Amino acid sequence: MIVIKSPIDLEILLNKIRGNNKKIGFVATMGALHDGHISLIKRSKEENDTTVCSIFINPKQFNDSNDLEKYPRPIENDLILLKEVGADIVFLPDYSDIYPQNYIEPEINLSGLDNVLEGLIRPGHFKGVALVVKRLFECVNPDVAYFGQKDYQQTLVIKEIVRQFKIPSVIAVCSIFREKNGLAMSSRNIRLSAEQRERASFIYKMLLQLKEDVKSLPLKEALNKAENILLKNEGVQIDYLTIVNQQTLVPEETLNLGKSSVALVVVDYFGVRLLDNIYL
Ligand code: AMP
Repeated sequence: MIVIKSPIDLEILLNKIRGNNKKIGFVATMGALHDGHISLIKRSKEENDTTVCSIFINPKQFNDSNDLEKYPRPIENDLILLKEVGADIVFLPDYSDIYPQNYIEPEINLSGLDNVLEGLIRPGHFKGVALVVKRLFECVNPDVAYFGQKDYQQTLVIKEIVRQFKIPSVIAVCSIFREKNGLAMSSRNIRLSAEQRERASFIYKMLLQLKEDVKSLPLKEALNKAENILLKNEGVQIDYLTIVNQQTLVPEETLNLGKSSVALVVVDYFGVRLLDNIYL
């Protein structure tokens, strides 16, 4: 496993690999790796000759400096996990490698995808995601890049950037990797106590129930029932629970089961924001 900090060194190495007709897969992360990240790397390894994983905590996507400061940075352990899973190249840039002094922010229009749901609660977040992903794609230029369905809105933002800037990479969206109890894995889960983490399975259970309920109940009724399931749990505040179109994120009036809808939920559970979603 090669660890590289400089984008130029990375470009030289990847050009050599590409010259040998090898396919390059890419997984972008902010570190504090868990089995969810590892599942993306495993898929990239299955489908490509070389897998690049980046670790970069992007300040531009944090609208809360406290959240940025608190973000875990267990880099030694991350490198051990990456070596174990067999990542070929780890790209570990500094801020100035991604945003050098002569960096000019490109104009990015996210077609409104950034003004709803997570974008409403975290203004500027998706603009920051778009900027870093564009830069990372310039550095890695992968054949395929792997992103998690867990951050559903983010996957749409990334597809939009790829389309807008004609980036010649395929975007693969990977299913949500869960703890045994169904809780979606997240770097934030370690902020929960062991007991809270066990109990947090109610989120996925609610989504499964909702997926069943929309088959027989009117949409509003099914959503009300789901909200009540969430609020029965101590320590829960609902940021949002909604059923939207998979492409546009516009709330659905009626369902096109198995085709176009996704239920998105974010709850604040004892001060930890937990995201999850399910295709309906
Ligand atoms: P992050 O380090 O949080 O920026 O996440 C890096 C990538 O891992 C993103 O594409 C996430 O969507 C993905 N990811 C995070 N958690 C999971 C999970 N539980 N299952 C699958 N992918 C995930």
